[in-house]
Amino acid sequence: VNLNKVELREILIRGLEMTTHLVEEKNIKMETTVDENVHVLGDKNRLIQIMMNLLANAITYSPENTTIHVNIYKNKTFGVFQIQDEGIGIKKSEINRIFERFYRVDRARSRNSGGTGLGLAIVKHLVEAHHGLIEVESEVGKGTIFTVSIPIVKS
Ligand code: ATP
Ligand code: MG
Repeated sequence: VNLNKVELREILIRGLEMTTHLVEEKNIKMETTVDENVHVLGDKNRLIQIMMNLLANAITYSPENTTIHVNIYKNKTFGVFQIQDEGIGIKKSEINRIFERFYRVDRARSRNSGGTGLGLAIVKHLVEAHHGLIEVESEVGKGTIFTVSIPIVKS
């Protein structure tokens, strides 16, 4: 990765552009709460890739007519983005495995969604290359929150 000063709001805008077709197909509502001037030390295209993968997952694993909420803010150390869906959720027993290559929770069900199970493995690798953190909270039938923290650049 090639690290530069990048604003997270711009990353979200690009991620949303790249997933509009999916959102419209499923009639999903996107809501955002975005702080400005959250600058992180990042590789712009790689951060877009992270954002896009998490948004695509949130959309894929949510039923129609639900809402996805994206939050962007900063704390002392990190710029943070959080993607919260009202989708199918992930069982406690599976949560540790979703970052493994080719792992998919329900092969039969996810087969027709056309993925490979590589998305989150790549996301985790890219977050670590940024010296960042990725966390997940989930409840089956209620939804999932992915939180990505990337070291901040003081502006
Ligand atoms: P792709 O390689 O196309 O991204 P994928 O979406 O199946 O395929 P990952 O993105 O790595 O692969 O996700 C792994 C698995 O984790 C998914 O198959 C799904 O079972 C589960 N998962 C990921 N994101 C969510 C989410 N937001 N809600 C519920 N389950 C999820
Ligand atoms: Mg995926």
